[in-house]
Amino acid sequence: VERRGITTRFVDPLDYEAYADAIDEDTAYVHFETIGNPALDTPDIQRVADIAHDRGVPLLVDNTFATPALCRPIEHGADLVWNSTTKWLHGSGTTVGGVVVDGGTFPWAEHAEKYPELAQDNPAYHGVNFVETFGEEAFTYAAIARGMRDLGNQQAPFDAWQTLQGIETLPLRMERHSENALAV
Ligand SMILES: *Cc1c(COP(=O)(O)O)cnc(C)c1O
Repeated sequence: VERRGITTRFVDPLDYEAYADAIDEDTAYVHFETIGNPALDTPDIQRVADIAHDRGVPLLVDNTFATPALCRPIEHGADLVWNSTTKWLHGSGTTVGGVVVDGGTFPWAEHAEKYPELAQDNPAYHGVNFVETFGEEAFTYAAIARGMRDLGNQQAPFDAWQTLQGIETLPLRMERHSENALAV
């Protein structure tokens, strides 16, 4: 399915040659889930990161199922991570939300033609070049500018507070989830 000129190519997440074959000069990013929902498979993060980086493409990982308590993909080569906070991070299922974590690792400026919103003068933000202005935090500030400032995707303060309270017990809850999973 193609919308707004964006094409998505699906590959078997454990077939490393398929990632390489699917990437072309227009590929914006490579994406997979750590502990895929619902297949429960997890690719070798560093191996996919190397394949993507060799082709000038960032790796974005959905770490919702593993959570940062069990896996920190940026330490294994991922550039960007996102998590639904709706599930394990929050823990109580009362609040829908998500977070994006920017490793600050991808050299956007080396691929300025492909990422003009980050690495060229951005007409939607007073002509600011995000890489020149924010350095390693370019993606973070571009995401805030577009996602929150332009589109208004803000979490309500009460929901954010509840999510932060939930995260305090994440390591304990993941320990119990893992014990249960091993027993099953
Ligand atoms: C549920 C889920 C999401 C979306 O989460 P919501 O917060 O419910 O929108 C994203 N990624 C994975 C892997 C999920 O399991």
